[in-house]
Amino acid sequence: MIESPLPVSREEMESRGWDRCDIILVTGDAYVDHPSFGVALIGRFLESLGYRVGVIARPRAGNAGEQDLESLGLPRLFWGVTGGNVDSMVTKYTAAGRLRHDDAYSPGGKAFIEESGGVSRPVRPDRAASAYTSAIRQVHKGAVIVLGGIEASMRRLSHWDFYQSKIRHSILVDSKGDIIVYGMGERAVREIARRIREGEPLGGIPGTVLRENKPPREAYRLLPSHEELAASPHLLHRQADALLSQKEELLVEKDGAWFLCHTPPAPPLDRAELDALYVLPFTRRPHPGYREAIPAWEMIRYSVTAHRGCAGGCRFCGITFHQGREIVSRSEESILEEVRRISAEKGFPGHITDIGGPSADMYGARCRRGERDCRRESCLYPSLCPFFESDVPRYLRLLERASQLVKKVSIGSGLRLDLSLSRAPWRKVIIEKYLSGYLNIAPEHRSPSVLKFMGKYAPETLENTLSALRREFPRKGLFRIRAYFIAGHPGETEQGNRETADFIRRYKIRAEAVQAFTPLPMTRSAAYFASGRDEKGKPLAVPGRGDAARFKRNLLSSGTGEKN
Ligand code: SF4
Repeated sequence: MIESPLPVSREEMESRGWDRCDIILVTGDAYVDHPSFGVALIGRFLESLGYRVGVIARPRAGNAGEQDLESLGLPRLFWGVTGGNVDSMVTKYTAAGRLRHDDAYSPGGKAFIEESGGVSRPVRPDRAASAYTSAIRQVHKGAVIVLGGIEASMRRLSHWDFYQSKIRHSILVDSKGDIIVYGMGERAVREIARRIREGEPLGGIPGTVLRENKPPREAYRLLPSHEELAASPHLLHRQADALLSQKEELLVEKDGAWFLCHTPPAPPLDRAELDALYVLPFTRRPHPGYREAIPAWEMIRYSVTAHRGCAGGCRFCGITFHQGREIVSRSEESILEEVRRISAEKGFPGHITDIGGPSADMYGARCRRGERDCRRESCLYPSLCPFFESDVPRYLRLLERASQLVKKVSIGSGLRLDLSLSRAPWRKVIIEKYLSGYLNIAPEHRSPSVLKFMGKYAPETLENTLSALRREFPRKGLFRIRAYFIAGHPGETEQGNRETADFIRRYKIRAEAVQAFTPLPMTRSAAYFASGRDEKGKPLAVPGRGDAARFKRNLLSSGTGEKN
């Protein structure tokens, strides 16, 4: 049976016999019905619960946008709005603040649309989730609007905005949305849908932020207010402390007359629930209405998500904030079943390009003590927690079993130097069997003082692994190391930048994946950047945009050595 995508037009709704949708999802990306795309995942999940779900992808601006938003009529329950798979400002602008020419989540990779008279304008509005929410208010008075996805998640409270160099309000205040679902949203969105259907209030749902006009009745912990943060950005550290350690208590941020009620994170889905999610009837393709290919889909169309969560807790990264630190892994059977399904697709070339997650080798990892009571920011930094139990052999067994079903399986996700790459037998298997040319690692830097602020392993870990790789694999051309570096992170000085450039030169790394630091809202690194201070209030070096760009050039120009 050929599955059909969620409806994007009246005709498609009517062909299903619907006169109205219960829920309409609006996204800044093209609609790709693949489980790597948040809208498809949430849409199919809600559909599996019996709701009628439609999708409006990339509505245009102005009057045309109103027509787009009215194309499915008005939803019976609520609108779900997301900027897309990535924060819209990151998709749209470079770290230097220039508009990007391409957009991997658009048909044809095009960031601009041509209008009459040969004028072209960006398709994606700035702060897309807010822009769509305001536009929905124009066409649907009294709508309930639920914001979700990475953009809403990482801007759910007052935050430092890199593009405007100021503290911005929560996206909930800016956009006048009703509620934010933060993190992986299945549990929260299910409860929101149920309560709206039953006419119940939305307060107290785990994994949400609700905008209220009076203080909550229950006990809560007060966060620094918007006004306090705007006056003293170093209070972002207090906000980060509270968010990273939040367990059961309600957190409240005051912003003008609003009370932003931030409930504790929703418990992650368990293994069976995650398995059930990935067998939903995704077509795994872009909606057939697109005439041009979507680059982001082409990259991941033959990849499989093995788990959620990242125990690393790197301070510049949004994954811990979004997916959580607890690793939940799918069962081997569920993953292999997905591989079988992909291999039956017409035109499948025989190569599964990834079985992974935020860090591929965290598949099967767990905390022996139960994460719920833990207040550490990372299971791996500054040292490996004695309760953290990885299971690299299980991951390798999974790859082996998958390889028996198709011509080739490779690991496209990153691998940790302190997990699967820390032991010679594991390195041997990975490099000889599961690379398709590249070994992806993310050392990010070489300077100890920068690594300390990033929350990354000591430089010796990197050097020892690279030396071991050279010894064990002297034959050139077997694979290349794609090493990801960040230039201009707080703590980087001229000397630290030189150290890293020397290191890249010494090890002849082709440093092709260097990015200038862009502080992600609400991360610890954003607090360093905005305040120029560490957690204890001590000043630290913070490179400006110009310095970060220069540091990046230095690293790139030092990375022209031979192939590893
Ligand atoms: S106890 Fe250790 S392994 Fe468990 S969540 Fe905390 S840091 Fe991670």
